[in-house]
Amino acid sequence: MISAVMPTYARVDLAFERGEGMYLYATDGRRYLDFGAGVAVNALGHVHPHLVAALKAQAEKLWHCSNLYRVPGQEKVAKRLIAHSFADTVFFCNSGAEAMEGVIKLMRKYHDATGRPERDRVIVARGAFHGRTLATLAAGGQEKHLKGFEPMVEGFDHVAYGNLNELRAAIGPDTAGILVEPVQGEGGILPATREYLRSLRSVADEFDILLGFDEVQTGNGRTGKLFAHEWAGIVPDVMGTAKGLGGGFPVGAILATEKAAVGMTPGTHGSTYGGNPLAMAAADAVLDILLSDGFLEQVQRMGALLSAELGKLVERHPRHLMERRGLGLMLGVKCLVPNGAVVDALTANGLLTVAAGDNVVRLVPPLIVEPSHIAEAIDIFDRSLAGLAI
Ligand SMILES: *Cc1c(COP(=O)(O)O)cnc(C)c1O
Repeated sequence: MISAVMPTYARVDLAFERGEGMYLYATDGRRYLDFGAGVAVNALGHVHPHLVAALKAQAEKLWHCSNLYRVPGQEKVAKRLIAHSFADTVFFCNSGAEAMEGVIKLMRKYHDATGRPERDRVIVARGAFHGRTLATLAAGGQEKHLKGFEPMVEGFDHVAYGNLNELRAAIGPDTAGILVEPVQGEGGILPATREYLRSLRSVADEFDILLGFDEVQTGNGRTGKLFAHEWAGIVPDVMGTAKGLGGGFPVGAILATEKAAVGMTPGTHGSTYGGNPLAMAAADAVLDILLSDGFLEQVQRMGALLSAELGKLVERHPRHLMERRGLGLMLGVKCLVPNGAVVDALTANGLLTVAAGDNVVRLVPPLIVEPSHIAEAIDIFDRSLAGLAI
């Protein structure tokens, strides 16, 4: 008999009842060190007092009122995001896929509004993940996600991630834009080089097409900058973000320049829940912390520490692990044994991580991680690998 909850996930038989900071407590009372953060969502860990207070206060005033009206929380959060990014304007939605769906719509609409409606195709990278809606699945282009869900949404051309020649060759008279993740997340924690991202900017300028980034996972402080593309010293025309932005409350956003958003006029896009007062209270409180003095520098220091420790771990376990990779607190180790077995062994020993593509174990801890948590995680790694057959 089918389970009451539609069985679309291969779930671990483990349920949590509460969380606190870096730790989760399961229904059986066991404590877990959380280096998965709900797949890079719990940016400030669990039940952060500042977030709890903000949501409680908002919950007693107003939950939802619709985008038929002005939402002051949206205006405030949008202004903050604009003040700290390339963007001139922000659209709020509820998830990563919804943000990326909107990024793709904006790219097509830009050319329609500027008199070149034939430009409706988007160049995307192989190994990318942009979400599970029909258009974002087509953008990701992964056979295993698309199988059985055809016909595929038209309008995407796939090139090798990091290969500029292939990208240039794919640009045609119907190209609307380029869409990439600055660090491929689900694909296996693969950072693009800064040179590649800079070249994407010049190519987009050269052909007057839009450069879009998927910063759903890399955004909101994850790599030690508010947004990962800042490391390359360039800006996109449009970007989608989500995961960490609500610290666990569902919220997504499309950030764009005024030029890129020229076609996004009243009636062109919408979302019933998008940017409701509760979501905006959460995002505003997350930004309070992310933008506080020295916070992102601390993320960079903890990223460097975890990365160095993972490097040593790989050296200690040359028959289990191959390499460490990533940026900031978005890190991964590529395994020589099946990554699922490593994730399971770590879980059994009280450390939560997330599997990613390319046989990688992903470590995306809350950004509030401290050296003692890193030491504890590495210790669990050592013990777990020692007990794992090769
Ligand atoms: C998680 C993710 C998405 C999809 O986000 P959802 O909130 O699951 O829809 C899109 N792009 C990237 C890079 C992601 O990591």
